[in-house]
Amino acid sequence: MNGTDSIRSLKGIGDKTEQIFRSAGIEMIDDLVTLYPRYYLTYEEPVSIADAQPGIRIAVCGKITNTPVYRQFKGLKITTCNIRDHSGSLGLIWYNMPYMRKQIHQGDSKIFVGTPVMKNGRLVMEHPEVFTEESYAKQREHLQPVYPLSRGLTNKMIIKAMSQTKEYMETAQEYLPDKIIERYHLQSYGKALKNVHFPIERQEVIEAKKRLIFDEFFIFLAAMRMVKEKTGVVQNQYIIRETKESRDFMEHLPFDLTNAQKCALQEMKEDLVKEEVMNRLVQGDVGSGKTILAVILLFMTVTNGYQGALMAPTEVLAVQHYETFCKLLEPYPVRIGLLTGSTKAKEKREIYQKLKDHELDLIIGTHALIQEKVEYNCLALVITDEQHRFGVKQREALYRKGLEPHVLVMSATPIPRTLALIMYGDLAISIIDELPANRLPIKNCVVNTSYRPNAYRFIEKQVQMGHQAYVICPMVEESENMEAENVTEYAKILKQNLPPSIRVECLNGRMKAVEKNRIMDEFGRGIIDVLVSTTVIEVGINVPNATVMMVENAERFGLAQLHQLRGRIGRGDSQSYCIFISGKDNDETKKRLEILNRSNDGFYIANEDLKLRGPGDFFGVRQSGMMDFVLADIYQNADLLKMAADSIELLEQEGFSFQNLQNERLKKQLELALQL
Ligand code: ADP
Ligand code: MG
Repeated sequence: MNGTDSIRSLKGIGDKTEQIFRSAGIEMIDDLVTLYPRYYLTYEEPVSIADAQPGIRIAVCGKITNTPVYRQFKGLKITTCNIRDHSGSLGLIWYNMPYMRKQIHQGDSKIFVGTPVMKNGRLVMEHPEVFTEESYAKQREHLQPVYPLSRGLTNKMIIKAMSQTKEYMETAQEYLPDKIIERYHLQSYGKALKNVHFPIERQEVIEAKKRLIFDEFFIFLAAMRMVKEKTGVVQNQYIIRETKESRDFMEHLPFDLTNAQKCALQEMKEDLVKEEVMNRLVQGDVGSGKTILAVILLFMTVTNGYQGALMAPTEVLAVQHYETFCKLLEPYPVRIGLLTGSTKAKEKREIYQKLKDHELDLIIGTHALIQEKVEYNCLALVITDEQHRFGVKQREALYRKGLEPHVLVMSATPIPRTLALIMYGDLAISIIDELPANRLPIKNCVVNTSYRPNAYRFIEKQVQMGHQAYVICPMVEESENMEAENVTEYAKILKQNLPPSIRVECLNGRMKAVEKNRIMDEFGRGIIDVLVSTTVIEVGINVPNATVMMVENAERFGLAQLHQLRGRIGRGDSQSYCIFISGKDNDETKKRLEILNRSNDGFYIANEDLKLRGPGDFFGVRQSGMMDFVLADIYQNADLLKMAADSIELLEQEGFSFQNLQNERLKKQLELALQL
């Protein structure tokens, strides 16, 4: 078996299954083996039925007390039965699994594993797994991986395919130098792969993840090195100074800049006339006003006779920036274009032509901006907003095009300084550590689910006062589809709990870009009052009229991520409120959420978050997708990030070059890391 073999070579994968895997981005064996479990199910000793609690997954051993009942209801095929043990009884229910009725019989004693929920005042276990005593003993011998699922792709399908690659995993080529593996007591790549997919116990997962997370950091940092080695020191070909127009613009800003904004701006202005090209990161907490700096710098660029570009991670954000720029620069003859994935082909071609002919001065968009076909006439400044790893990829892409503009990366992710130095080792850093003066500190509260009705009343009141609200639904670990369903369902319930005059809409990651844009546009214009959303909302969105943020299941999010979410409010001069609903009452959750309750300062929160976590906490809450890592979390795995940075340094001291790599696998990994 070869890593580049199609998954078609596996048993049980025909046309249809291949297509399903393909739409989840899995085409070759290597794609499959790097699809890591989201979490693992453990199979614990059965407990008494009387100890069952809603929402907590358990195993119970019980006797089926009736003939299973099968019925169809609203298109659902429902199988139900009851079980009993010495302590009490419990209902079981399966949806759309009609074959279950043939697999269970009155009088059978079985072990059932599942999560009980409250239904019509009674505890019922939905979709329990059924075991005999023997099969349960076998099941308990290992951990059961749960993979990220998508449309049509089930855990069973993945496990079946994965089980055929065990041997391949064990012999997968190593790409870390031996020295590093020994020094940091890492597992071999092959062993880590095998253990992450087929662990017998938690310790194996911990060891495996340590290695794989180390790899993610190592590859990221090595890619950064590679680009740096390649590009070397870049001469500044674009001297950008203040002009009459840019001074005029500064005099007519809608507000006074804060001192921190002024300082950062000053540092960048100095960069723009230096001998070397600018490479800078502006780190400013959410709402600190980074966008206006981008407007000022890009306008300066244009009035110096050059072109500028602003890149955002999502279309929604790109559209928002485009509108801000058009509004602020309206009095000036600046030609601004918008280029995203939804731009029609014909329009795209026109934009390409105009960029080439310098008929456009500014272009705003997603990473479509630096794709191969785009040619610029005189691109002097590229700014990226909230695209952290993009900084590296983008420089590589620009370099390949032979472009050497100034580069500015703007980020609201609060990273403790020690980590920032590693993540952004090659960038100069400006920090905006002050919020505009008109802001009132956000009022926070952490409450349990029984407070929900009060929260709804509160939202209602705020909307009646003319404000708007966000409600964030919990993440669904298994799949984006289920998450989408969840949000829609929640919005329905919320509607029933609010007066009909209040317009509630929902937003999720599965929606088409045009649909998302429409909803965000309507929310921005105040047509929608309450937006129910997944975390797709977290980055960059600016609707200053929104004053309430309610986060369901706050305990499932990382603190840095919660802080980002909260950053969507408190952006205007009205008092804003953040309601964290916690579904869990334990001490650890309380302690974590208390940090947010106490402080609105992102850097403080990030530091506290770091302190609260022990090293190697691989089972804790992960900040979903933050910084684009798959397994790694810079907060949680700060120790491994440092290790990876140290090893790169060690290798470099010994003359290791990331440009002329001998190891094919490492070479490929680095290329992948730099792909847009
Ligand atoms: P972020 O740093 O999170 O990207 P934005 O640039 O979106 O923040 O700014 C948030 C809001 O604050 C915007 O509505 C912006 O117009 C406003 N703003 C920015 N700077 C100032 C300032 N100095 N005084 C008052 N409001 C400001
Ligand atoms: Mg922003």
